[in-house]
Parts: sequence; structure tokens; C-alpha cells
Amino acid sequence: MLSGTANDGGLYVPQTVPVFTQEQINSFKDKSYEEIARVISSCFIGDAINHDELSKIINYTYRNEVFSNESKVPLVQIDDNMYIMELFHGPTIAFKDYALQLLGNVFDHVLEKLNKKITVVGATSGDTGSAAIHACKNRKNIEVFILHPQGRVSDIQRKQMTTVAAKNIHNLAVKGDFDDCQALVKRLFSDKDFVSRHNLTAINSINWARIAFQIIYYFVASAKLGSSEKKISFAVPTGNFGNVFAAYTAKKMGLPVNDLIIGTNKNDIITRFFETGEMVKTKAHATMSPSMDIQISSNFERYLFDLLGQDGNRVKHMMDKFSQDGSFSVDKETHIQARNDFSAYRCSEEETIETIRSCYNQSGYVIDPHTAVGLNAAIRHKNNFFGDDNTQFVALACAHPAKFPDTVHKAIGFEPQLPPSLRDLHDKQERFTIIENDYTAIKEYIS
Ligand SMILES: *Cc1c(COP(=O)(O)O)cnc(C)c1O
Repeated sequence: MLSGTANDGGLYVPQTVPVFTQEQINSFKDKSYEEIARVISSCFIGDAINHDELSKIINYTYRNEVFSNESKVPLVQIDDNMYIMELFHGPTIAFKDYALQLLGNVFDHVLEKLNKKITVVGATSGDTGSAAIHACKNRKNIEVFILHPQGRVSDIQRKQMTTVAAKNIHNLAVKGDFDDCQALVKRLFSDKDFVSRHNLTAINSINWARIAFQIIYYFVASAKLGSSEKKISFAVPTGNFGNVFAAYTAKKMGLPVNDLIIGTNKNDIITRFFETGEMVKTKAHATMSPSMDIQISSNFERYLFDLLGQDGNRVKHMMDKFSQDGSFSVDKETHIQARNDFSAYRCSEEETIETIRSCYNQSGYVIDPHTAVGLNAAIRHKNNFFGDDNTQFVALACAHPAKFPDTVHKAIGFEPQLPPSLRDLHDKQERFTIIENDYTAIKEYIS
């Protein structure tokens, strides 16, 4: 948790993944979000934090002042066997709050105990940055540097980052795209001197703790829908592959899940991989769903590890090739396995608008463009052949529609209202530093 990436440049994965019995899973049925969070997170925390302290941290994290909805992740039915899981009731109204708020509090607890300070550095295509900032603001043992691509995040996304008036928060607007930001951050983390001098820590989804804490809401959704009788297929709008990897891990932990459905926007490297067995990097395009405008999905490496029989050397070989040539491919058998594990669909800009519109027309429910990409995948998957009467589809609503007012307006003719906690956002003062897409400049700034 404290280092983010491993020393050899790879990603941490748990040595073993705990598997729950059906009986244990059934027992989640009447449990609260907090109770399920305690069971799932303690699987990965072990006795590093004692039971009572962990309970306290979890109850504090998901208190009503921070996560405004009583059930934390309400499920809204929009059609027969089709549900939306609202993951936008945290402070930055996007799903990343659910894991990052907990991570911020766990960090605080551990750093205090170890009497240690860390420097969080992260790249964001929009939502990670603000969620990280809100999770770490005003903490005395954490300095936070967030790089975002200048002019490539929405107004609201930028303001959610730059209006936080806390001494330990530093926003950097990089003259480049998200992949440039990510490359800069990656390079900082490969600079061993720099990493140890500043105790550099990653807070994007390459930090395993984030994935671990995202597993929680898949169990919660399943408990609410009575998973013992009906199976669930989850549809996840995907960028860095973190959220859908958490769903995949939940399935490995015994959660009765039918299909894992991936929705990508026109930045479709993942969808192309599932179609062809080849991962080929191309240029990133700006879309209406900017949090998924990436061309390298860093968490895919964790899945690749499973796919290649947990052979770390083979993974390293593939990832090295990928960073040199911008591509790698898997053999036929591995490709078939991957297609069994996930179904992926791409969603054009027109389809994104159309999905927001038809969802509103049919059910009166307003979704954001990221949610639309996932829902579009869910509907196509259901219509294709995979849904029977015993499968319930849950499409994840990863951001509140008010975060993307222009797109929503274009689709349905009006702008959704920001939740009360964010209405004064536009009156607050912004603070950020514009910086060249240049490694030395960034490094000096942080130093
Ligand atoms: C981060 C984000 C995504 C992509 O999630 P990954 O875990 O990176 O795949 C999708 N939608 C929204 C709104 C996001 O903030």
C-alpha cells in the first residue's frame, strides 16, 4: 500500500485470493456496506490493522456526511433484469471515492503508527485526481502532487481538484495528454533515488489497496439482489482496467457472477485485444467520457499474470515488449481464455449520446457518458444472446451526470443539477501550476 508499484517496476498482486463459500456469501444478504467492507478488506489486510481499529476506520469513512446515500450504493432498476448501481454518492461524485476515501484513512492510520511521511504522485484523466485530493487533503503526513492534461479534463473535474484549499495539495496542469502524464509519473517511480528520497507512493489503481477496496461494492450489489437465486452480470465502463479487475477478483473470490462486460469508448485498445488477441497501442482521442481516454490500461498487467499461468517472467517479457514496440499478442488458446473471462464492446460518441437519450426516454433516468458506455455494452450483451431470465445485469454508474453537463444536455436537452454539496464549486478560487511536458521540470517542482 505504501509503495504502490513494486521495486522491479511490476505490480503487486496478492499471493492468494481468499475464496468464500456460498453460505458465507448468502450471509452478506442483510449486512450493511460497512460490514461487508470489513469482511472483504480484512481478507487483504490480515492482522496489519487490528479488527476494532479497522471497524472504526471503515465506519468513519462511510459516514453519512461523506457518502450521502444511506445504502451507499443504491441500485436503480431501469428495465427488466437491468439495474444501475450508483457509485457517485461520495465527495467527488465518482466511483473512485469509494476506495480512495478508505485508502486515505488507512494511510493516515498507518503513517501515524510508523511515524512516516509519504509523497503521493498521480496522473489523472479526470476523476482519480479529485478523488485522491479529497481523500488526502489536510493530512499532515501526506503531500499530494496530481498531474492532469491541461485542457483535457472537464471544467467541473478540474475545479474539483483545483479549488481544494489545502497546503498539502499541488495541482500540475501538464502541456500534454493523459498518456504523457502517466509516462511522467511512471518515470518518477522508476527513479529509485527519487522514490526513496521522497517516499513516493502511487494512488492510482496500480495501488493494490484500491483494487481491494473496490471489490467491496460488487459483493454489496450481489447481496442486495439476492445473488443466491439469480446470477449477476456486471457491465463496467473501462479505462485503466482497475474497476473491472476488481469485479474479476470478486468472481475469483466466489461471488456468483455470470459475465464481466467491458465497455470502452473509441479509445478501444481493450476491446480490440479481446477481438484479436493483440494489444496494440494507438493515439489517444479526446471523447465525451474523458476518464476513459487512455491507451494503456495499467491494470491489464495484473490480469495478464493470471492469463499467463501466473508466470511473472512471461508477464515481464510481454510488458517490456509492449513498452518498446507498443504491442504484444497472446496465442490462440490464451485468447480464447480471455474471451471466456470478459466480453468487451466499444461505444462510439454517437452511441454514447443515443444511450443517454434512450435511457432517459424509456425510464426517466439520467446517466453520465461513462455510465452510458457501460450500459450500452450491457444492453448489447443482453440482446446478443447472453441474458436469460435468470441473469440480472448491473451496469455501474461511475459518475454523477452533473459532472458532464454539456454531453447530457446534448442528449436530453437539459443539464442535471449538481448535488447540494458541490453547488458552490464555480464560485471558489482555483489554484494550479501549468508545467511543460518535461521530466526534469516535474522532478524539480516536486523536489
Ligand atoms: C476512472 C473512471 C473510469 C475507468 O475506470 P478504470 O478502473 O480506470 O477502468 C470510468 N468511468 C469513470 C467515471 C471514471 O472516473
